[in-house]
Amino acid sequence: MTADRIHGLNTAYWTLDYSLAVQATRIGEPLRATVPCFLIDHPEGLVLFDTGLSHEMVDDPTGYGAPHIEGFVGGIEPQGSVAEQLEGLGFSPEEVDTVILSHLHVDHAGGIDAFPEATFVVRTEELRYAWWPESTQWLFYLQRDFEALRSPEFEVREVTGEYDHFGDGSVVAFPTPGHTPGHQSLRVELEGETVILASDVASTQTGLDEELPASFAWSMSESVTSMRTVKRMAEQGADVVVNHDPELVEARLGS
Ligand SMILES: [Zn+2]
Repeated sequence: MTADRIHGLNTAYWTLDYSLAVQATRIGEPLRATVPCFLIDHPEGLVLFDTGLSHEMVDDPTGYGAPHIEGFVGGIEPQGSVAEQLEGLGFSPEEVDTVILSHLHVDHAGGIDAFPEATFVVRTEELRYAWWPESTQWLFYLQRDFEALRSPEFEVREVTGEYDHFGDGSVVAFPTPGHTPGHQSLRVELEGETVILASDVASTQTGLDEELPASFAWSMSESVTSMRTVKRMAEQGADVVVNHDPELVEARLGS
């Protein structure tokens, strides 16, 4: 079986220095990055990949427990929360059965609270690391984003390797560590098309082509290994989408 379609939902534009997203490249130039998540419509259920940025956090970073984000907020243009955008497409958050999270950074895990009915699929290593990151990695993990996952009301399925959600090969999460230790990507089989939702394996197509990770990546060497994994899939005909490249993401927005 194949999935019927992928709906891209862009929760914000976030402008940052290009060289932060793609190291040592276009230093001093802005990247107006998309902050998307993706809804996969499959005959057996709706799967959401990532949850975007929390608009509650953007409105009041200090109240959200993330005062260090205050300095970044000027560069954020919210585009409607994940729940609002789902409703715009005619879906309610309650209809989403499963949320697969690529990793738990601020721009991917900000909408978790909107899906108390869903099962969350996260790599074990990412959960552990998000709660106890090394060095400056804590800047990107906001505990308020993912603390609900510890509540007994939320169901979490921890995974360690490849995870075939429907058991038919149509929606398969696979490990792509490097950006973070527990980062994963998603392969989606549509009728006549394979799409790799690679999240932050690279920030932009240029980053992927040149094998240049974000400057704050957890492991440069593992980032490059994961980029090569994804690039091999592209060589075999898959269409790869990385989260922060506006051109790639805008082509997949809407219904
Ligand atoms: Zn990230």
